[in-house]
Amino acid sequence: VAALLSVSEARQQLISAFHPGEPVTVTLDAAFGRVLSKDIHSAVDWPPFASSSMDGFAVRWADVEQATPDTPVRLPVVADIPAGALSTIPLAQGTAVRIMTGAPIPAGADLVIPIEDTNHDRPHPGESIPSDVIIFHSSPNGVNVRPVGQDLHIGQSILPAGHRLRPQDVGMLATLGLHQVPVYPCPRVAILSTGDELVPPDQPLQPGQIHDSNSYVIAALVRQAGGEPVVLGSARDRFDVIQAKLDQAVAAKVDLILTSAGVSVGTYDFVREVVETHGKIGFWRVNMRPGKPVAFGEYRGVRLVGLPGNPASAFVGFEVFVRPAIQRLAGNTEYNRTQVTVKLGEPVDSDGRESYMRGIVSYQSDPPTARLTGHQGSGNLFSLVQANALLIIPSGVKSLPAGSEVEAWLLEV
Ligand code: AMP
Ligand code: MG
Repeated sequence: VAALLSVSEARQQLISAFHPGEPVTVTLDAAFGRVLSKDIHSAVDWPPFASSSMDGFAVRWADVEQATPDTPVRLPVVADIPAGALSTIPLAQGTAVRIMTGAPIPAGADLVIPIEDTNHDRPHPGESIPSDVIIFHSSPNGVNVRPVGQDLHIGQSILPAGHRLRPQDVGMLATLGLHQVPVYPCPRVAILSTGDELVPPDQPLQPGQIHDSNSYVIAALVRQAGGEPVVLGSARDRFDVIQAKLDQAVAAKVDLILTSAGVSVGTYDFVREVVETHGKIGFWRVNMRPGKPVAFGEYRGVRLVGLPGNPASAFVGFEVFVRPAIQRLAGNTEYNRTQVTVKLGEPVDSDGRESYMRGIVSYQSDPPTARLTGHQGSGNLFSLVQANALLIIPSGVKSLPAGSEVEAWLLEV
């Protein structure tokens, strides 16, 4: 009998078997969700030129310093600078230029007086510039001018290798003019459901049948973790059918195969036999709940993780073991779910194994409060639909009173 591993031992063993592939380059439009393979530094100062942060009039501080509603200052308007224009003429003493947000500040100008503090209204498109402007309020020197390098300096560290690109990161790369992005390859992950009872969701159920939900949950989890799912559908509980599907995964040159169900000791559980025929499969007895043992092996040289068939068990097995493995494969240095301490809003019973319970964390209190969702039976997906977290009841604990503090993994992306 295999040794009983703790969740953290099993996790560590599995995760350490996964490493990112050789870096590649993708264009910026394909970079969202990919993981950087190099540190990114800024090659520029940003903003690249001093620009206005308001629509108004660029002036010299000395000319407007004294302006008040009772003693307004009148200045001739000598030019108009829309965004995208180049202001080559320095601002002469005693003059103003009309300027738009994002337009370059002319040499000599110190600040921008917003339109609201002048006698003018917001200009209509195409309206010619006024001959002069009356300024009723001064503003502090330098105000409404975004100086060069306010956000970034040349050489500044922007993002580290191993970081998964978010929308704002992609925007940052665009700002820097980086359109070829160094990233790790996206792991390709084959997904196979097994079971004679399974039919695709677009087909009516005959007595005894259920719709295959694991394929959909696992494909979405793979995507969320930064992988590309290669969905193989569901296989009947037959040696040759499962073998043909796994061969399809090998031919598709995937980095990892995920199966669900069919690895227990039932009469029709063939996944184990097929994998052992052309590779090897090891079972771990992990001290956790929900969870049959997790199967980890290799089929014709391709790594394979066998998840349980029950939807909630498959989900938890994925979160505990497969998500970190895929994120490592994807090059992501951060592969843990966000973990927070929560206070139980109700008593919770466990059986002494490390338990991952479906819960809803509410942030109205500090620390946040957590309750269990729905019926915690491992076949019940609705309890996960209602959940926004997995509550971790440590091993060795059989019951916890309301008010106890436990750790929770937040399931929000
Ligand atoms: P097994 O591991 O084959 O004994 O399956 C355990 C339980 O999970 C059974 O109730 C199956 O019907 C269910 N199950 C297996 N695969 C799926 C699937 N792809 N979608 C939904 N339920 C499944
Ligand atoms: Mg089965």
